[in-house]
Amino acid sequence: MEYLPIFLNIKGEKCLVIGGRQDAFEKIRLLLKAGATVTVIATDLCREITELKENKRISHQEEPFSASNLNGTKIIIVATSDTSLRLAVVKKAREKKIPVTVIDFPDLGTFTLPSIVDRSPLLLAVSTSGNSPTLTRIIRSRLEAMLPLSYGRLSLLVGKFRENVKEILQNKQERRYFWNRIFSSPIIELFLSGKEQEAERLLKKEIDTIGKNTQTMGQVCLVGAGPGDPDLLTLRALRLIQNADTIVYDRLVFPKILEYARQDAELIYVGKQSANHAVPQDQINQKLVDLARQGKMVVRLKGGDPFIFGRGGEEIEMLMESGIDFQVVPGVTAASGCSTYAGIPLTHRDYAQHCVLVTGHLKEGGMDLNWDSLVQPSQTVVFYMGLSNIKILSDELIKHGMSPDMLAAIVQKGTTRNQKVYSGTVFELPDIVEKNDIKPPALIIVGNVVKLHQKLVKAGFDNRLSH
Ligand code: SAH
Repeated sequence: MEYLPIFLNIKGEKCLVIGGRQDAFEKIRLLLKAGATVTVIATDLCREITELKENKRISHQEEPFSASNLNGTKIIIVATSDTSLRLAVVKKAREKKIPVTVIDFPDLGTFTLPSIVDRSPLLLAVSTSGNSPTLTRIIRSRLEAMLPLSYGRLSLLVGKFRENVKEILQNKQERRYFWNRIFSSPIIELFLSGKEQEAERLLKKEIDTIGKNTQTMGQVCLVGAGPGDPDLLTLRALRLIQNADTIVYDRLVFPKILEYARQDAELIYVGKQSANHAVPQDQINQKLVDLARQGKMVVRLKGGDPFIFGRGGEEIEMLMESGIDFQVVPGVTAASGCSTYAGIPLTHRDYAQHCVLVTGHLKEGGMDLNWDSLVQPSQTVVFYMGLSNIKILSDELIKHGMSPDMLAAIVQKGTTRNQKVYSGTVFELPDIVEKNDIKPPALIIVGNVVKLHQKLVKAGFDNRLSH
């Protein structure tokens, strides 16, 4: 290990910055955030540092630098292009044993500044010991994405009860066990989803009942898994999947996504195929309630978005009635994911000012849709679950005044590696399905916006959109 990582308390301490450019400003901002008293030595100041000077947030001294500037200084940051000044400051700092860092020249100084993820009071510092700032930045941005913004407030909450728990549980091992259990419990998710007071109340209750055998209530998270490509998951969806005790999932959830689950997570398949209900909806509802009552963190994972033809509404009604805590996480719906990956903009200034999402699957097998409202100028119509009724769909649209030549596309297994896009006219749709033996899941898009897809195919660009 080349360096010892430390977190330094510099509140009210004098810190010196040599240099007035943008890179110096970035460091000054950090120093000020940590409560330092900053003096800048430079001849020219960039706009941001000038502003800080005008607002009396820093003191400024024109060059030249003299050794007396170092008196009482806690740390020095050198960010100047003047080589002789740089070397002079470093020499003096080393003599006086004041920690010094030189931006872009890590070997010259005695410490380096890490890249940080700031969720104060939670702080993460990343360093490659000066070897690769780029790698440091990449790692930092991954960490940024992994840690919800509210982790800072979460650590404050936990900090508030730390002493309390220490008094009750004097054994370190027991305390660690207690906090581990809390961190994998629904209390944390409750907090992160914004119900901070409720989370605090439950945490207090947990502390009050330490040693007494009580069961905490679980939580059900209805999570949209998107149409296929795992990269389309939201950050929240990913975090919940990684943390779940049990995942109850549908047929449309892309298998790769389940690989994000914990090794010991229980995976329950409740996939439905239309007209062949694998698990009836009321049994799914009951299952969710039972699991939550056992104290489990349950993720109810659904293809696309839970609230778009996803029966999410029905499931939360049941959870609400049963007094189970829940949250809903939106996902990229098939209309959005498939159309984008197929190069079909759902709206377009020249072709479509509105877009309707319609189910092509109807309860009694017939299609009782408001056809007139679907046959409108400048409109894109997206049919979900329309494949088995494709003939009725095509006939009715034409019967209600749509031109048989209106463009249409079918996107099969959209956003996955096996995505296929077929395009033609509304009249040709039944034929396209039959000839190509298209199987679900498939989305049907009707409207002039399909033109762009055809243009992309002609120009050989279509593979740029899917992967
Ligand atoms: N809640 C989901 C929709 C569920 S209904 C969502 O928001 O996307 C199921 C229908 O969605 C399928 O019959 C099909 O029409 C469409 N669908 C879902 N995923 C799809 C995919 N990857 N490719 C094409 N169509 C898809």
